[in-house]
Amino acid sequence: MKYISTRDSTQSVSSAQAIVRGISRESGLFVPETLPRLSGRDFAGLLADDYIGRAGKILSRFLTDFTDGEIKSCVNAAYGSGKFPQGNPVPIVKLAGGVRMLELWHGPTCAFKDMALQLLPRLLTVSMGKEAPGKEIVILVATSGDTGKAALEGFADVPGTRILVFYPQDGVSNVQKLQMTTQDGANVSVMGVRGNFDDAQTGVKQIFTDPILNARLAEKGLMFSSANSINWGRLVPQIVYYISAYLDLVKMGDIAMGDKINICVPTGNFGNILAAYYAREMGVPVGMLICASNENKVLADFIRTGIYDRRRELVLTTSPSMDILISSNLERLLFSLCEGDSDAVSAMMSDLAGSGVYTIPAKAKEKLGELFWGGFCTEAEVMDTIKETFEGQNYLADTHTAVALRVHGQYVRETGDTTAALIASTADPFKFAPSILTALTGKASEESEFGQIAALEKIAKRKAPIQIGALKNKPERFTGVVDKHEMARALRRF
Ligand SMILES: *Cc1c(COP(=O)(O)O)cnc(C)c1O
Repeated sequence: MKYISTRDSTQSVSSAQAIVRGISRESGLFVPETLPRLSGRDFAGLLADDYIGRAGKILSRFLTDFTDGEIKSCVNAAYGSGKFPQGNPVPIVKLAGGVRMLELWHGPTCAFKDMALQLLPRLLTVSMGKEAPGKEIVILVATSGDTGKAALEGFADVPGTRILVFYPQDGVSNVQKLQMTTQDGANVSVMGVRGNFDDAQTGVKQIFTDPILNARLAEKGLMFSSANSINWGRLVPQIVYYISAYLDLVKMGDIAMGDKINICVPTGNFGNILAAYYAREMGVPVGMLICASNENKVLADFIRTGIYDRRRELVLTTSPSMDILISSNLERLLFSLCEGDSDAVSAMMSDLAGSGVYTIPAKAKEKLGELFWGGFCTEAEVMDTIKETFEGQNYLADTHTAVALRVHGQYVRETGDTTAALIASTADPFKFAPSILTALTGKASEESEFGQIAALEKIAKRKAPIQIGALKNKPERFTGVVDKHEMARALRRF
């Protein structure tokens, strides 16, 4: 299996190269040349496997330059070493009206990003062994909260890697900050930046492209890499859980093999829903892919009009991981909708960079409408949905997941399509306790964040996950804060 760039389809690399490089030379994203198709026999075989078995088989179709032994050991280290519930790391919970919640947040940091970030470090070290043997990787991350913690937890004590995370000092919640500053591991460090998320992100980009820093790193046998969601090594693990969830629905007797399901995903950078699209292209019977946005509804507008227009203010919402105006992974879908025309994709991406807007060709727009349905919901609707779902069905949804539940409801009302739907549940509600508590009680609490977690435990009649509860008494290891122009110095010290 070769990987080609969305902006230059004549460039072709192995999966290990795609994972080590992250992004192609001309800033395109790597995509598989063709998607593997699963036959009826493949599905029957996968049905009998457990999650780890399924992951191994599916990954082996994409990572053809890895040996079976390499893939098995990566998958076992990620999902079989006690960081996820044993058996099935992604349980499904049935709600009313054909809705099935696919809970992707049972990993070490309580968010769905663990599904990919527990596996990526393993895939990256194996890829390094093939492409740059003997070199050590330095991962730099700028985070607005969740990604930093999930990356730290994924890379902690992985041999051949070091990770440094920068977070905006006043831009993350207290719990998010403590999750990072108390991180264990001999190869990790965390640094606050005086500024906002954009300052931290700009600083990281400058460091990545600084020729002098890169040369000094090379002298020491080190090399930069990135853990962000455009890396193929972060996308491919996500395809696995959609295929696995379909098979679990069959196993539960909920659907028969071959029945169609819809999939609804709360979307930000378009990584998670793209994985669902790839699963569909591989043969999973999926009807509609429902893309749910919060008030930053660039994608909902795009799916209706075929015009992507980022020229608007970013709104800060209670679902911060979806507060995004440029959904990077959409580029991969465009490549597919334009049938691999990398010139067309390059032109659209340069329009986006230049004027902030692009229009897709009519034929691509038609295909987009056949595959995807887009909707959005307001902050008030998110709050209502959390309350209604808890009071009516005793199910506590986090703010991101509530966006998807709401938009799925809109879809059913507008189209009358009541096909069974899998809804991606992307975070543990306790991760966003203050918003959830406000939704349930109707008013904002004056208590500390830990006080609010305790209050939510009482209402929900369950304990917060230990990873979050234990933070209160865990010593902070990383208390450093730097100005934005001092970030490179912080890296040299690290
Ligand atoms: C990252 C994230 C999302 C958005 O996922 P994308 O792959 O960026 O579309 C949704 N919910 C939560 C909780 C997240 O952390």
